[in-house]
Amino acid sequence: MAVAPSLAGERPRIRVLPPEVAARIAAGEVIERPASIVKELVENALDAGARRIEVSLEGGGVDVIRVRDDGHGIPPDQLPDAFERHATSKLRVAEDLFAVQTLGFRGEALAAIVAAADVDFTTRPPLEDAAAVARFRGGRATGGGAAAAAPGSTVEVRDLFASLPARRRFLREGRAEARAVAAVVTDWAVARPDVAFRLASEGRTLLATPGDGALASAFAAIHGPDLGGGLLPLEGTRSGEDGARVAVSGAVAPPEAHRANRRALHLVVNRRAVTSRTLLASIEQAYAGLLPAGRHPAGVVHIEVPADQVDVNVHPQKAEVRLRHERFVAGAVHGAVRRALLDAAARTYGGLEGWRPSAVTADSLPGARPVIEAARPASELPRAASLAALEEPPPDLAAPGAAVSAPPAVTRALPPLRPLGQLDATYLVAEAADGLFVIDQHAAHERVHYERLLEARTAGRVESQALLEVAVAPLAATAVLLALTHREALVALGWELEETDGAALLVRAVPVALAGRDAARVLAEYLDQLEAEGRRATADAAVAALACKAAVRAGDRLDLPQQRALLEALE
Ligand code: ADP
Ligand code: MG
Repeated sequence: MAVAPSLAGERPRIRVLPPEVAARIAAGEVIERPASIVKELVENALDAGARRIEVSLEGGGVDVIRVRDDGHGIPPDQLPDAFERHATSKLRVAEDLFAVQTLGFRGEALAAIVAAADVDFTTRPPLEDAAAVARFRGGRATGGGAAAAAPGSTVEVRDLFASLPARRRFLREGRAEARAVAAVVTDWAVARPDVAFRLASEGRTLLATPGDGALASAFAAIHGPDLGGGLLPLEGTRSGEDGARVAVSGAVAPPEAHRANRRALHLVVNRRAVTSRTLLASIEQAYAGLLPAGRHPAGVVHIEVPADQVDVNVHPQKAEVRLRHERFVAGAVHGAVRRALLDAAARTYGGLEGWRPSAVTADSLPGARPVIEAARPASELPRAASLAALEEPPPDLAAPGAAVSAPPAVTRALPPLRPLGQLDATYLVAEAADGLFVIDQHAAHERVHYERLLEARTAGRVESQALLEVAVAPLAATAVLLALTHREALVALGWELEETDGAALLVRAVPVALAGRDAARVLAEYLDQLEAEGRRATADAAVAALACKAAVRAGDRLDLPQQRALLEALE
């Protein structure tokens, strides 16, 4: 390793960096990966008043990103300026900084993008006869001219970081990059249902929203028609001390539409998709007691606050929002969501009490394990069924929020069990020589499936059942890309999937364990589950997710022979 000059005795001079070097350093801050470029270009298109925005990718956006909009374009004489650093049409004097209405204003994105990749920018204001093109190669303008094009702008970005190999190495495999882009476009599509978004990757459409202004249709286009239809509208305005004001709108899904991850829960502040731990927590708290633990609600919560009470520029990429009156806003959000849920429950069930989680998962029960508890006071329990082993969670469950990639292990051999019956269609009550057992049926079944699947996969004989009729599964763009990323692991488990143009996959065959169910729906749930399992050990996560999906749920009635079969398998 080279010795730092300062240690070698002679102090290097302080110098002002040459502009290209400064531009490259700045580029690194704005642009990390294709998703950050897409975010900037989409925001520019929205600032230009676009009603239609199309994003297409090749090689996950590392090879090509193309963003087309029908916005107001850039007049030919101003085009060269757009690529200068700190060149913007959105800010004139420093005071404007405090009342920025546009998404951009730093005037840095285009300069950073041309420093990081090759760019062709074609643009035509609606009143011009022809389009103007500006070309950049290796960070330098290499010419331009006139071209024929429809009104609006098209930005084509090629070979990201080709001249910066150290940065290029940090990029992930193409599909992972495409997924990050899909997340960005999805966020904007729910934030702006008045704009039609289209995302295509490798020539196939992954997402297309109608742009009709209706939140439900944007949501349905993204997360599937099931969720779009049942959304419960939110509304509420509040004002508080110190000029605090907030309006909440949007819609949330009823509790039974819970998801394995937070991908279908969107937060929009002043028409900008953002994240905020506090606000997400306040939404989830409104569902307290209605969702199985570890499951998440779906919906889009729009929040409007006065522009000077929000700072969305805390972090240039992550859009983590900072609110001046955060607790006040969180309270309003919680209230609006809770009210929507109460209203819906009153209509359907006569109150929230009647509304119980429809599909309790294994991890929803405190320390849930196949054998969760003996039905007698702990002190009276025979030693063999000691609760100690049950109370201490296995290491993979110990960390709160840690993804569980395998069902909990049965920590000791079970004695022969005789089924006595079912409790609340959720637990099996069984008798053994040394006591009474209460068993979470879902967890138990999941465990049985998991072991069998692992065994079958190792032996290379996982069975698949071809569908008589190919099923079309409408899926979120991120889910399609997830399936394609894990294709091999899915095939090994019996899935046979085919790509199609549109936000969907074709299902030709399903794992036998899932045969007989609604293939489209079960695939969507399966992918949700797989995503929640996390990135680690993908092949095993695929097995774990399948075991979970294949298992009986809480609420499923099992007759005595079925109970006996499950208990025997568990032993
Ligand atoms: P900023 O968005 O912060 O102003 P950018 O570098 O992203 O900075 O863009 C520079 C300028 O180029 C913008 O202020 C805008 O005038 C113009 N511009 C960029 N993209 C578009 C577009 N798609 N349509 C119209 N004008 C655009
Ligand atoms: Mg911009």
